[in-house]
Amino acid sequence: MPWINYHSHTHYCDGNHAPGNYILKAMELGLKAYGFSSHAPVNFKTEWCMKNDKIQMYLDEIAGLKEKYKSEIEIYLGLEIDYIPGIAGRMKQLFDRKLDFFIGSIHFVDSFFDGTHWNIDTSAELFESGLKNIFGGDFRKVAERFFDLNQQMIEEDKPDVIGHMDKIKMFNTNERYFRQRDKWYKDRVEYLLQIIKEKGTIVEVNTRGFYRYNQLDLYPSQWIIEMLAKKDIPIVLNSDSHKPEEIIAGFEYAVEKLKKARVKCLWALIDNRWQCFEYNQQGIVL
Ligand SMILES: [Zn+2]
Ligand SMILES: [Zn+2]
Repeated sequence: MPWINYHSHTHYCDGNHAPGNYILKAMELGLKAYGFSSHAPVNFKTEWCMKNDKIQMYLDEIAGLKEKYKSEIEIYLGLEIDYIPGIAGRMKQLFDRKLDFFIGSIHFVDSFFDGTHWNIDTSAELFESGLKNIFGGDFRKVAERFFDLNQQMIEEDKPDVIGHMDKIKMFNTNERYFRQRDKWYKDRVEYLLQIIKEKGTIVEVNTRGFYRYNQLDLYPSQWIIEMLAKKDIPIVLNSDSHKPEEIIAGFEYAVEKLKKARVKCLWALIDNRWQCFEYNQQGIVL
């Protein structure tokens, strides 16, 4: 029973290896399908997005690997695309090669007075600074803006997969900013899920928070996974790997949580279409 993973980075963005090395590892692990989703370029300076002049090379290299290994593993060409209204999103990407899929993610929430986009997942210090300087220290406002942006992305630029949909909790260590059981937060998440259900897109369960920061927590949190299951919203399991050894990191733990939440099946891009498969501790049941 093989695993699959569609959220992965390479040395074209902030991953540490060439794409081919991830494929060698994925084949060693017996994956059925592997999707590349390096951070798409944006039109301002960041430390982790792909540079504009690298995109064509990236697209060509993945397409080459796809052809080279087609009898051994299904490789899919994708990107993780930031959505910033009027500035970044799928509609802003200019290249001619067609993507097999893309992940839509919010990493930037508004900007500082000098115009610098606020990256909410860089460090606790930067988070604190944006919270104070852009939102006057009001965490609820930040969270609501984050979920509004997710909603706007789905409405205007619908991705195949929504990346780490509750990333805004990342620096909420010891409930420093809010409690997930607060009614306003629950209501806002539930409203977003309603939009996701209406628009028909896939939500990822992302294990990176679990294996990287050693927190017993996934994106999204268990109570949200339970709501996804109840609403029958499609779920894909992704590792957001930046290194070859992270390709299926945390998957066994995630399966335990998905089973507990009564998630019936996992979605996977197989034979060029998204389909739902039963799953267990060893992977999806083909
Ligand atoms: Zn991301
Ligand atoms: Zn990512």
